[in-house]
Amino acid sequence: MSHIIAIANQKGGVGKTTTAVNLAAALAEAEQRVLLVDMDAQGNATMGVGADKKALEATVCDFLLGEKGVAEALEVVADGSFYLLGANSDMTAAEVGLRDMKGGRAALKKSLADIADSFDYVVIDCPPALSMLTVNALVAARGVIIPMQCEYYALEGLTDLLTTIENIRQMINRDLVVEGVLRTMYDGRNRLTGEVSAQLIDYFGNSVYETVIPRNVRLAEAPSFGQSIFDYDASASGAAAYRSLAAEILGRDDSEIVSAPRTGAKR
Ligand code: ADP
Ligand code: MG
Repeated sequence: MSHIIAIANQKGGVGKTTTAVNLAAALAEAEQRVLLVDMDAQGNATMGVGADKKALEATVCDFLLGEKGVAEALEVVADGSFYLLGANSDMTAAEVGLRDMKGGRAALKKSLADIADSFDYVVIDCPPALSMLTVNALVAARGVIIPMQCEYYALEGLTDLLTTIENIRQMINRDLVVEGVLRTMYDGRNRLTGEVSAQLIDYFGNSVYETVIPRNVRLAEAPSFGQSIFDYDASASGAAAYRSLAAEILGRDDSEIVSAPRTGAKR
């Protein structure tokens, strides 16, 4: 069975898309079969792996609204190991259409059921809002990764996200857990970063990943070449960080086999 992970935080600019693209690429590099799902109308994850968002045969919107089959929307990123379900500005239509649709919250879950078993990991990049599209990702997922920038207002709005996750767990997806909190654009020399980081660990305990993603200009440059950090500059500090995150996730999943039952706080 595949492990479905949503990358969510309703704040924009916290590193969701950077994490979705590079975590997916790191898992593929670690010989996992990976599917990246772009749920954002901006199509940044789509472009980030080199697909042309304006030239997609079919998009996530098309299959969510039942206009095409999910398999028609599969794009190859790397032969046999890394695939994409891409998005573009059509996604705004999906947001509206899903609200009117019976069972609209479970549309992505239903679509993925047809193909998810072909993948070890499905990584879903969410839009910067607690919208119907984010709800669809949280209903389809088993784990949520919350990227956070360790800045002043980092914790603001977090309650809304956690409440949404809890509501979805109670109403429709009882397996959903906060898989981990990921500190992004991390600058260890900055005092505020250290303080906010300590607050996160206080609040989330073991769910905060040991791996931190440093601020690294190579991570910011890679998307303009349509490349993950591993194709763009495999020796960058950002590449090492996403490799380490993938190893942490793979390690946790292995240890789960012997350490059921699953809870929110692991490790
Ligand atoms: P989100 O998807 O949450 O809006 P992005 O992943 O698009 O956030 O990141 C916002 C901006 O910050 C982008 O320009 C991205 O290239 C840049 N960025 C993300 N992570 C890093 C990092 N670790 N170091 C440097 N720049 C980063
Ligand atoms: Mg994004």
